[in-house]
Amino acid sequence: MNHADRSIPVIVRGIPNFWQRVRAAPYRLLGLDYDGTLPPFRKARMEARPLPDVLSTLQAIQNSRTTSLFVISGRPVSEIAQLLGNLPIHIIGAHGYEERELDGKFHASAPTQRQQHGLETANARAIEQGYESFVELKAGSIALHSRGVVHPPESYEEVKTAWQHVGQQHDLLLKEFAGGIELRAYDRNKGTAFRERLEKMPSGTLPVYVGDDETDEDAFQVVRSTGIGIKVGGKKSKTMATGFLEDCNEVVRFLSFWQTMVGS
Ligand SMILES: [Mg+2]
Repeated sequence: MNHADRSIPVIVRGIPNFWQRVRAAPYRLLGLDYDGTLPPFRKARMEARPLPDVLSTLQAIQNSRTTSLFVISGRPVSEIAQLLGNLPIHIIGAHGYEERELDGKFHASAPTQRQQHGLETANARAIEQGYESFVELKAGSIALHSRGVVHPPESYEEVKTAWQHVGQQHDLLLKEFAGGIELRAYDRNKGTAFRERLEKMPSGTLPVYVGDDETDEDAFQVVRSTGIGIKVGGKKSKTMATGFLEDCNEVVRFLSFWQTMVGS
């Protein structure tokens, strides 16, 4: 990207006065989902790296001190930290069950015993069906990745049915995401994480959340009353977001323009 591009405002569809609101706010809270928002989807999960210029832009926004920034994901904090090149940045992982603060302090929340038992049972069911290398057990959730899976669809459906059953018995919710299914404890989610951050901000803070997936809907709902939720990928499905960006490339330009707005 050349630097001239930074002076062109990115149009956030649905929010005609978006940049005026950003400029007028004394403080801003910017929450960013990772996959499908910063990098486009990749079959090999650890190859989903941020597009060029994103890391330096995030760093500059953070240094401005009038925007509090965090990246949030269903992935563990360790993966996001690695993908972000160990950039010193606030990361919330495992849908809010893990957190690494700006100063490097790490916290994890545990699900209930019943939920933990359910996650272990779900893991065992997936392994029985031969999905050992596609299943990912995390704090508060378990995911089955369908990208790159060569197993017959019946066995995938079998795991899905088994997980539904486990979920009902162990207070866990089964959700589909862009690259598979996930069974998780729902006491914490991207919405509760966003609310917790917002509560720590000074009054008058403008909250903005950018995400692309169903799991981002909880955050869109929280941000709706006082700020702006922006969905990446346009309005293809029902959403609580009110603003729209086309794709990850547009997110890059959005962040660059944000950086010019906050004067860093
Ligand atoms: Mg996403």
